[in-house]
Amino acid sequence: MYYNSIIETIGNTPLVRLNSVNKGIKGTILVKVEYFNPGHSIKDRMAVKMIELAEERGDLKPGGTIIECTSGNTGMGLALAACCKGYKCIFTLADKQSKEKIDALRALGAEIHVCPTNVAPDDPRSYYSVARRKHEETPNSIFVNQYDNPGNAIAHYETTGPEIWEQTEGKITHYAVGVGTGGTVSGVSKYLKEQNPNVYTVGIDSYGSVFKKYKETGIFDENEIYSYLTEGIGEDILPKNVDFSVIDEFIKVTDKDGALMTRRLAKEEGLFVGWSAGSAVHGALEYAKENLKEDDMMVIILHDHGTRYLGKVFNDDWMKDHGFLDSSDFGTAKSIVD
Ligand code: PMP
Repeated sequence: MYYNSIIETIGNTPLVRLNSVNKGIKGTILVKVEYFNPGHSIKDRMAVKMIELAEERGDLKPGGTIIECTSGNTGMGLALAACCKGYKCIFTLADKQSKEKIDALRALGAEIHVCPTNVAPDDPRSYYSVARRKHEETPNSIFVNQYDNPGNAIAHYETTGPEIWEQTEGKITHYAVGVGTGGTVSGVSKYLKEQNPNVYTVGIDSYGSVFKKYKETGIFDENEIYSYLTEGIGEDILPKNVDFSVIDEFIKVTDKDGALMTRRLAKEEGLFVGWSAGSAVHGALEYAKENLKEDDMMVIILHDHGTRYLGKVFNDDWMKDHGFLDSSDFGTAKSIVD
């Protein structure tokens, strides 16, 4: 038995029960471990879907170039698919992204442009603007634009949502997930609510991002925007893929709380996952503490793998430098505590 290419191995990731970090909280709490995808993140799913739709529309032709602004994981999925299908890739990244992510994209043959994080989205230096400009300059290219590309949420509506429904045998009552482009939260939540309208969806947002305030007030408040460190969740724009009608509430998580939970997931659960996964679990457990009942079943998405954050949340010196770790925190190497 074999697969025709690595692309066919995407999806059908395991659902695993949490046993330690949720002690004292009622209900069954399950995590969907998306680092089992070949690019080590959930974004492989939507990357391939967006390429397939571009091929079907005739926008992406043989030998073409795929251009995207990405926090790294979408780029990984696009690059894998591009290698298998014979396309070139050009990616723009914000300079806060992990070096590991940038090196991995280069390893798959992508051309990388690193852009400043702290500029407005319409600034010509921003990673959105540079991607648009590269598209204009490159013949036979597509600009994927994961923020507004419907293929992003469709991938999760067609694969991630049905997998969760089947794996929980329809018993899921709560769904929690970090929100960036919104594809994961919206596609999955739409599918789950169609099966059972009572499924309650919690979107995990970052401090420094606009989503929570917008959901609660309908106001796009620029005062909510400031720089933060967590990668992949929160935005300073409202992407079309965020369908606010299928998200019941947002919870904001600080960089520090997300980082500490990421370390706990590794040490206590053996789940070596990325920073946004720690944020998602921290926020989801805050909600669960107050609201979950014994018979409830919550599913939390863990977006990517911990290797991409070895130089950050898993590095004690980096954690101390950012004020995220002090001698009262568990899990530090002894030399650091001393
Ligand atoms: N976590 C990580 C690590 C990500 O790369 C992303 C994608 N930006 C997300 C969470 C959020 O997923 P989505 O874009 O589907 O909202």
